Amino acid sequence: MADTTTCNVLLDMDGVLVHEEHAIDGAAAFIEALRERGVRFMVLTNNSIYTPRDLSARLARSGIDVHEECIWTSALATARFLDDQRPRGTAHVVGEAGLTTALHDIGYVMVDTDPDYVVLGETRNYSFTAITRAIQLINDGARFIATNPDPSGPSRDGMLPATGSVAALITKATGVAPYFVGKPNTLMMRSALNAMDAHSEDTVMIGDRMDTDVVAGLEAGMRTVLVLSGSTARAEVDRFPYRPWMIADSIADVDPSDLGAPPAGGAGRGASGAD
Ligand SMILES: [Mg+2]
Repeated sequence: MADTTTCNVLLDMDGVLVHEEHAIDGAAAFIEALRERGVRFMVLTNNSIYTPRDLSARLARSGIDVHEECIWTSALATARFLDDQRPRGTAHVVGEAGLTTALHDIGYVMVDTDPDYVVLGETRNYSFTAITRAIQLINDGARFIATNPDPSGPSRDGMLPATGSVAALITKATGVAPYFVGKPNTLMMRSALNAMDAHSEDTVMIGDRMDTDVVAGLEAGMRTVLVLSGSTARAEVDRFPYRPWMIADSIADVDPSDLGAPPAGGAGRGASGAD
């Protein structure tokens, strides 16, 4: 059972637990400490290429033990959103297994003609043919959804264009902007909270970006911890009109006991579903 004196934790993955495939010092120990304390946690990623099982295996290879049930991707959030909006619909997908599996699992059918939605996700194999088909379907009336707005992402070979850049190409061609589900959309945080049966006021968001993790955590009603092991440098923090609740050099410097108890009202405060 969860320790009711400790908050639940949402953790961004890249820049907090890992850099690409390499564990950040202290990440494995932090996850272990959460488990020992009975803290409910969920690892979040805007990356929609992989399934949670794939990501769990990749984290395990980096020495970090996170079960697939404790991983929440923008692909899962997108599937949850579509299931809520238009259950058992149809989609034309430009993306990888992480996205197609999530959509199949909520009862969506993948089609190449007259879909309810064109759903764009992350892939390393964008084809001109696939993008052209997506553009034609949107022009014919399909709704346009994208898993995440990130314009670029890191790789071992340097920066790569990501979903947001390809979405911009499709938008330029069609005049239609997508609805982005992943961070900083709070839908991503709310669906993760729902998946772990937690409430925002009892949950801390730990991330490495002010413009996604911290702002989305804040807007979803959570306390936020910024770690400086990823995208945002300490000197940049003051430039933002909002502040994290806590700043740490890295996850190694975050003590789960410092995340504290839920604010006044206790652990059951969110039970009414007020968030
Ligand atoms: Mg990150």
